[in-house]
Amino acid sequence: MMAQYLALKEQAADCLLFYRMGDFFELFFDDAKIAAQVLDIALTSRGEHGGAPIPMCGVPVHSAEGYLARLIKAGCRVAIAEQVETPEEAKKRGGSKALVARDIVRFVTAGTLTEEALLEPRRANVLAAVCEVRGVIGVAACDISTGRMELEECSADQMGAALARLGASEVVASDSWDQAPVDCVPRPNRSFSSDEGETRLKALHGVSTLDGFGQFTRAMLAAAGGLITYLDHVGRGALPLLLPPVAREAGTHMAMDEATRASLEILVSSTGTRRGSLVEAIDRCVTGAGARLLAEDLSAPLTDARAINRRLELVSWLHDDPLLRGDIRGILRALPDVGRALGRVVAGRGSPRDLGQLRDGLSEARRLHDLLRARSDLPEPMVSLLPALSGHGALTDLYARALVPAPPTERSQGGFIAEGYDAGLDELRRVSGNARRAIAALEAKYRDETGIAALKIRHNGVLGYFIEVPAKHGDRLMAPDSGFTHRQTMAGAVRFNALALHEEASRIAESGGHSLAAEEAHFEDLVGHAVRAREAIAATAAALARIDVAAGQAERAAEGGWALPRVVDEPCLEITGGRHPVVEAALAAKGDRFVANDCYLNTPRPARAEPVEAPPRNAHPSTSSGWAGGAGAGTSRLWLVGGPNMGGKSTFLRQNALIVLLAQAGGFVPAQAAKVGMVDRLFSRVGAADNLARGRSTFMVEMVETAAILSQATERSFVILDEVGRGTSTYDGLALAWAVAEAVHSINRCRCLFATHYHELARLAETCDALSLHHVRAREWKGDLVLLHELAEGPADKSYGLAVARLAGVPAPVIKRARSVLDKLEKGRAATGGLAAGLGDLPLFAAAIEAAEEKVDALRERLNGLDIDALSPREALDLLYELKAQANG
Ligand code: ADP
Repeated sequence: MMAQYLALKEQAADCLLFYRMGDFFELFFDDAKIAAQVLDIALTSRGEHGGAPIPMCGVPVHSAEGYLARLIKAGCRVAIAEQVETPEEAKKRGGSKALVARDIVRFVTAGTLTEEALLEPRRANVLAAVCEVRGVIGVAACDISTGRMELEECSADQMGAALARLGASEVVASDSWDQAPVDCVPRPNRSFSSDEGETRLKALHGVSTLDGFGQFTRAMLAAAGGLITYLDHVGRGALPLLLPPVAREAGTHMAMDEATRASLEILVSSTGTRRGSLVEAIDRCVTGAGARLLAEDLSAPLTDARAINRRLELVSWLHDDPLLRGDIRGILRALPDVGRALGRVVAGRGSPRDLGQLRDGLSEARRLHDLLRARSDLPEPMVSLLPALSGHGALTDLYARALVPAPPTERSQGGFIAEGYDAGLDELRRVSGNARRAIAALEAKYRDETGIAALKIRHNGVLGYFIEVPAKHGDRLMAPDSGFTHRQTMAGAVRFNALALHEEASRIAESGGHSLAAEEAHFEDLVGHAVRAREAIAATAAALARIDVAAGQAERAAEGGWALPRVVDEPCLEITGGRHPVVEAALAAKGDRFVANDCYLNTPRPARAEPVEAPPRNAHPSTSSGWAGGAGAGTSRLWLVGGPNMGGKSTFLRQNALIVLLAQAGGFVPAQAAKVGMVDRLFSRVGAADNLARGRSTFMVEMVETAAILSQATERSFVILDEVGRGTSTYDGLALAWAVAEAVHSINRCRCLFATHYHELARLAETCDALSLHHVRAREWKGDLVLLHELAEGPADKSYGLAVARLAGVPAPVIKRARSVLDKLEKGRAATGGLAAGLGDLPLFAAAIEAAEEKVDALRERLNGLDIDALSPREALDLLYELKAQANG
């Protein structure tokens, strides 16, 4: 047996091998140790191998799914080795000692799941394959639980962003590619060829050309080759549901890199879970498929105004009609997950219950179709969804006739084909029913005849039907002429057989076997119907999901009083009364109110907007003139946002990025009104100090990310930069923040919100005509700091650092000491004046000031001497590194 085990294990070296033995899957050696630890089950041992006992553990077959789920979650891959012949067949083949043949029937991996119990209902489960073809990256992705498949190509530096958007749970790549993503599953290089991909796709969909599906490049096809070959490998030749591939064109979606996605907490929050994420705050879908599509929409907002407006039109129509919305959501709520049921059925892992789900889901789709068709005010996008909701009449009729109302998940016991569907099956069932009744009658008859009231007819797996009497009556039936034959004597009972009972029992066994075979044949036939209609069924599932997303977005908008955004093609941003959906929800849970704020980039500020504050009297000397910048407050595209910590700067930055994202994903936005100029790339960066948990050289990470913005942001991009430069020493940080702000302003010329606590940056307003100064307001009241979370124009008046420290509970003596140090520093500033005075304002040890001043002056000279417009992004980046090196001395 060990030889067989080891041979199988060799085929599954990177997996835990589940080795079927009777009613258990057993694991041996290191597999057993890993599984015992992950699953918290007992580790035992068995026999020996190489002189040492073999570690072993096992899980019962009937509850294997739950254990599998935990192993997959823990990052393991599992190979399932089943018995592929019965013990009888083995004996026939190789004598009484023959070992039952076993083979790996399937690999269970994170990206190739279809089982309901192993999948999260509200999350797509994506498997991706990536490869490189002459410098171009090909990406193929599929969700085999629903069959969706998508191909794209991108440049090498965009690979990370593409994979981040897909959020794949498993990525495969060539084993000979040195740039392959970390943690990917290595696969033979030959499977990543465009010929392989093309041949496989054509065979899969029975076409002679792929042109009907779209235009696919060599890189895309090579990735598809790698993907399909892998699926073939893990399914041991049985391919799952794969719908025709869709080519994703570059530029049809808003680009967001991994850091941006993480910092905006789109699908998962910083805790790594859905809790506290954007999607959690938005999702009002009533079906799992809707929730999955919403997550996809939020991961890949559109850049095509027509497509966005079609989505908005649908949401808006449902928003304006709460009654209709309620009716639609009522129907959707009761829907089974049609897409995933189809995925299981096509993959050959379907159950009668899955067929029942298809029947119920498709009939409900029809009901929704009829409800909608009766309306005279359907918007165009709904008109085009309607046809996909119907057209399954023949299939649902067939399933309705063929299946019982609530079919079981287990098909080996039968009992799922409805009465009246197959006369032959009904007859078999009648025979077996009659026989059962006859057996019940026999029991009464035998009691009567023998006079033993305690006589019973019973059934078990070993003996089949038998007659049982208490031991004290046993002798009476032992008599040769009693008509009973002895079968077994137990402690308190004796068991017999009788001719009539035997005959009825044989009838039951025979008709039972025949009816199981008949049901099995019907099952295959019913599955065949679904497989043939798979594309139409998937289209219905997709239409239902789209309607659910639109209705859910409308519901969310109605709940929060959100606005229909206007998406335009000029690079502006006009948000009135914007809110952050996640922070607002968190505050609401505590009974607090969120303060709405406006944001106007590249657009004149409406005259009626909040009263513009005069520059505070104690404003920084260097900014007391012309703080709003040369262009005036109205038309800036870069807002510098200052103010105390905890004042709401990050929240303000992110809420505007999220509003853009939500609008381009085709939903309402948390604002009073919003006009969003189409954004091609969205960047969000948080100063390194906020990211300490990442445990890398955080400043380096921050700079790499900043470099990406400087090289990639265009005039159509939107960038939020939160406390850039915070991860290094004060002077480095200031110099970098300064240079980055200038570069973003003058070279990238994108829309940008830039939060900083460096007052000195306010001076940028003097030279950068499209930059304006803003701050989050705070007041000191009776010695306490009151954060108003309200955005106002002009520079921040002071840093309130000590007040925030007191708010945070720093002990009074420390605050007092800090105040006296601060007084000293401020006196020093008054004595020196100029930029150096500004630097004295910074949270720096007094002793360091002198030594560093010289360097900063040199930096300042270099910065002042720069002709920024003449710099290429590459030169700007190099300069940043130089400046940093210079500042570090
Ligand atoms: P900063 O970036 O200025 O340090 P944050 O944006 O992190 O400040 O905000 C700190 C806290 O203040 C948030 O967690 C939230 O509770 C609260 N807050 C922020 N913005 C608002 C707002 N507009 N209205 C109400 N509370 C807010």
